[in-house]
Amino acid sequence: MNILLLGSGGREHALAWKIAASPLVTKLWCAPGNAGIARAATCVPLDLADHAAVIDFCKANAIEFVVVGPEAPLVAGIVDDLTAAGIKAFGPSSKAAQLEGSKGFTKDLCKAHGIPTAAYERFSDPGEAKAYIRVQGAPIVVKADGLAAGKGVVVAMTLAEAEDAVDMIFGGALGEAGVEVVVEDFLVGEEASFFVLCDGEHALALATAQDHKRAYDGDKGPNTGGMGAYSPAPVMTEAVCKQAMERIITPTLKGMKAMGMPFKGVLFAGLMITEDGPQLIEYNVRFGDPECQVLMLRMLSDIVPALLACADGQLAHFSLRWVDEPALTVVMAAKGYPGAYEKGTRIAGLERAEQIPGVEIFHAGTMASGDWILANGGRVLAVTASANTVAEAQRRAYEAIGVINWPEGFCRRDIGWQAVARERGRK
Ligand code: AMP
Repeated sequence: MNILLLGSGGREHALAWKIAASPLVTKLWCAPGNAGIARAATCVPLDLADHAAVIDFCKANAIEFVVVGPEAPLVAGIVDDLTAAGIKAFGPSSKAAQLEGSKGFTKDLCKAHGIPTAAYERFSDPGEAKAYIRVQGAPIVVKADGLAAGKGVVVAMTLAEAEDAVDMIFGGALGEAGVEVVVEDFLVGEEASFFVLCDGEHALALATAQDHKRAYDGDKGPNTGGMGAYSPAPVMTEAVCKQAMERIITPTLKGMKAMGMPFKGVLFAGLMITEDGPQLIEYNVRFGDPECQVLMLRMLSDIVPALLACADGQLAHFSLRWVDEPALTVVMAAKGYPGAYEKGTRIAGLERAEQIPGVEIFHAGTMASGDWILANGGRVLAVTASANTVAEAQRRAYEAIGVINWPEGFCRRDIGWQAVARERGRK
């Protein structure tokens, strides 16, 4: 089977690495890809916003299945357009992708189906939003309705911060994403990510993960796309996973189907594990990055039949095998990220780093130039390792980072600290 993977980040490198290992694959393409993905797939410089060009490419190259990595093309309807052209694709329709594309849509769905989530109101007028905030008090959370590349959520500890967030969002800083806001209660608990494959009706739980969103050690500094992750998430016990499935995922799939927009693809639930059980913080309609890197390292089964089963509505009796060993990934980012950073700096030592047992390096933002690998983004590498303990996986990942020579890069030194502390507590 000829497969085309869309995307260019660490998530897509991990997917390419896993898909390329499938005996079902004749040829794997990736658009646009990066220097690491080029080792697993043939990269082609397609513009993912140009759906006609993607379809033309599929027809010219006998592509039978398209796997979509990032959210923007999903929300823009790439799966609808591919399907209409007779090309099978993994991912939700644009209507179903509203679960990520509109926070208000998801909150209303939760309300209609009794899905546990923070109490909220939606506003399209800044004055009304601020009046509500003053009644509710701080801490409180202000969110732009639409896709804002991680910049649309402000967890406000004071009323002033919350009101500034309303002004920022309605002031046009986030464009179309900010024409409406959701204001919701602040939830207290531990966060975790829960991933399920869906075929429109059935859900198959994948492994759990936890990520580190803040830029600096001690979970300090600005929010980022994610500076590291590990799997499994110790807080996601079997009982919590069962609750998440029964109280959150199953009613969501039922509700989406009833509205005529069945959800197919991977549903990534950002959860807050509170004293009353899991509450939904948000949905994403694609794999998390960097969570995908640790999930792919732990997945034993061939991923391709599972992705096909989602597209074909055949997930009912499907199961996947996982290794028990934990995996951990540390993101190396360009200095300055998530603010301004330099591109084009040289990275050396990758081959030596990859020889460390259990280590796999996924490229997030790189390009090749002659014999050199150059940084080509904010998050640049995801140095991933598995081992029989989180502490050992962490040690291996940092050993690999020690071998990588990239003076213009930085990483957090404490990825996995909660899981390592829990492991020590058990001993
Ligand atoms: P989101 O983009 O919706 O995942 O929000 C980004 C981050 O903001 C989450 O990972 C949480 O850390 C935090 N957050 C969002 N909503 C809430 C909430 N209702 N209570 C507490 N923290 C929240």
